[in-house]
Amino acid sequence: MTRETELEMLDAVRGRTTGPVEPVRLKPDDGFCFHCHKGVPCWNACCSGADITLTPYDILRLTRRLNITAKDFLAEYTVPAMWEPAGLPVAKLKMCGEAGEGPCAFVEDEGCSVYDDRPVTCRYYPLGRGTFKTKDAAAEDDFFFLVKESHCQGHVEAKTQSVEEFRAEQGVADYDALNRGWMDILMKMASWKTLGGPYGKDVNTRTKQMFFLVSTDVDGFRRFVFDTRFLQTYDIDDAMTERLKTEDETLLQLGFDWLKLIMFNDSHLKMREDVLHEAIAAARSDMGAM
Ligand code: SF4
Ligand code: SF4
Repeated sequence: MTRETELEMLDAVRGRTTGPVEPVRLKPDDGFCFHCHKGVPCWNACCSGADITLTPYDILRLTRRLNITAKDFLAEYTVPAMWEPAGLPVAKLKMCGEAGEGPCAFVEDEGCSVYDDRPVTCRYYPLGRGTFKTKDAAAEDDFFFLVKESHCQGHVEAKTQSVEEFRAEQGVADYDALNRGWMDILMKMASWKTLGGPYGKDVNTRTKQMFFLVSTDVDGFRRFVFDTRFLQTYDIDDAMTERLKTEDETLLQLGFDWLKLIMFNDSHLKMREDVLHEAIAAARSDMGAM
């Protein structure tokens, strides 16, 4: 990877013993052979001992489905972890058993009991997704790769589809759109850690806590927005303030924009002019400027 590129890899490998990842990148129109159905001899094998990082939209969908708070969901169904490439805390789906080698709490004989709201990593499997962005490009260029694990018999089934057909069948578009800001943050931090970018050092503990809050608990972030001076500090109009009271997806996007501002000073979100002027005056005063 050169200094001209940034690379985002969505972890698609659900097993702890990974098989070979085919080195050939797949574009949306490229075809691949795979079919998962209840008749395969490995049915449900991939839902044990799986290593699944939960995205913010995964958690939102699952808490709605289970009708529980994010706090209860995190305690019952997840384990905290560090996403090492970026040095940021994430939540992983808990697997049963002391060493996490047992089945997922949601797997049943018939398959996934939360199928309509299953995490995006489960949807993509056996595909992985990456994003390639040249330094001067306006937008990212997505690509995909096939993960072949030895236990998965879906690869020998006689069904060929394009990546785009598979993505449509698995319903990943909403997930990708809503998680984009979050993935941007992980990608940028991973890139800076690898390449030694402008702030190529670890973020502080408080920022990590706020990243985890936004990533895992939209109601907790809502309390932070409405119960602190947040709305007096940032330039958010009345109409948006109303939407933030009830629209979880909108609140998530605000959370990502806010994290981009405090972590990279690169965001749609801005401080209010008067707050900014006060901060500049205070900084000048601290430095002894006239
Ligand atoms: S959430 Fe569903 S698809 Fe994903 S590992 Fe658990 S049972 Fe399997
Ligand atoms: S075919 Fe692959 S994805 Fe389907 S149940 Fe078997 S191991 Fe899991």
